[in-house]
Amino acid sequence: CYILAVETSCDETSAAVIKNGTEVLSNLIASQIETHKAFGGVVPEVASRKHVESITLMLEEAVNQAGISLEQLSAVAVTEGPGLVGALLVGIMAAKSLAFALDKPLIGTHHIAGHIYANRLVGEIQYPCLALVVSGGHTELVLMQREGSFDLIGRTRDDAVGEAYDKVARALGFPYPGGPHVDKLALSSEVSEELPRAWLEPDSYDFSFSGLKSAVLNAVNQHKMRGEDGYQAAIARGFQESVIDVVVEKAIRAVKSTGAVQLLLCGGVAANRGLRGALSERCEKESIPLSIPPLAYCTDNAAMIGAAAYLKWKHGEFSGMELKAEPSLSLSSWSIGQTRDPR
Ligand code: ATP
Ligand code: MG
Ligand code: FE
Repeated sequence: CYILAVETSCDETSAAVIKNGTEVLSNLIASQIETHKAFGGVVPEVASRKHVESITLMLEEAVNQAGISLEQLSAVAVTEGPGLVGALLVGIMAAKSLAFALDKPLIGTHHIAGHIYANRLVGEIQYPCLALVVSGGHTELVLMQREGSFDLIGRTRDDAVGEAYDKVARALGFPYPGGPHVDKLALSSEVSEELPRAWLEPDSYDFSFSGLKSAVLNAVNQHKMRGEDGYQAAIARGFQESVIDVVVEKAIRAVKSTGAVQLLLCGGVAANRGLRGALSERCEKESIPLSIPPLAYCTDNAAMIGAAAYLKWKHGEFSGMELKAEPSLSLSSWSIGQTRDPR
């Protein structure tokens, strides 16, 4: 089975070919970061236009690099949501056109299911498992009782972790996207500024990062008013420690209370070295099997979309030509393998 997967939900135009659900034959990513940097964040209209410019070439190259012909494709998969509507539409239109022209099945895929199933590119997944999703727009704990079922047991009540990273990075003077800069600065710092942790109710798996973000902005302003400099590293470290403490603790607690046999880390912030290290250490101590995708499969990419789409393909769950962009598609309303028996 060869699946051509397309991902255009935000500011990465990506196309990949996945063989039998796990083997990445090609995974091309055209990042628009340089374009959006000037604006300090992603400008939706600009993102759509950039996707249009590169999508055709990306599709061609993904198939070429995979060393297969278009006729050999088993299906064309595409992110249907969530994401920026105009950006999603570009990928959907391209995927539809190709699927229609080649007379191949079309598979609409959930972006976060893709982030989660990036872990399938690393190895087998054991169920029930718990996914810790930390990305630019999402911070969630997802219980998966079986392959393709998603129960949201915790979510952020305000900012997503990646969003908080980007805002803190901006306050510290870094360009968009700031997550990797804060990560690097935090790990280089010997000192840490004390910042709050939002645990919420004792039994809650929800998250909140807006208080922490405000605390960082206040601290930055105070240092500035006192005319100090060189404070950035301690703030970066304090911020990162606060995020990691809460995220790791809640994930471990959720694994224990749900009886999950494996923990999956995913989403763009899964690329954070501090988080990868702390979570690995804690899981080792607690004897919890942990899966973390390599860096290239953490941030947005089409290979992860192909991995999730393969499961839909196995169940013969295809989308019609009426497939729409769903900017706020929820994960609980989306599933794999619910409508038909596996082949
Ligand atoms: P979503 O997946 O929720 O729709 P998105 O697709 O925009 O959002 P991703 O590509 O999954 O987000 O992740 C991008 C985010 O990851 C950005 O906020 C970025 O700052 C953050 N990020 C990337 N690398 C790191 C890192 N090393 N440390 C912290 N954050 C990071
Ligand atoms: Mg991005
Ligand atoms: Fe993403």
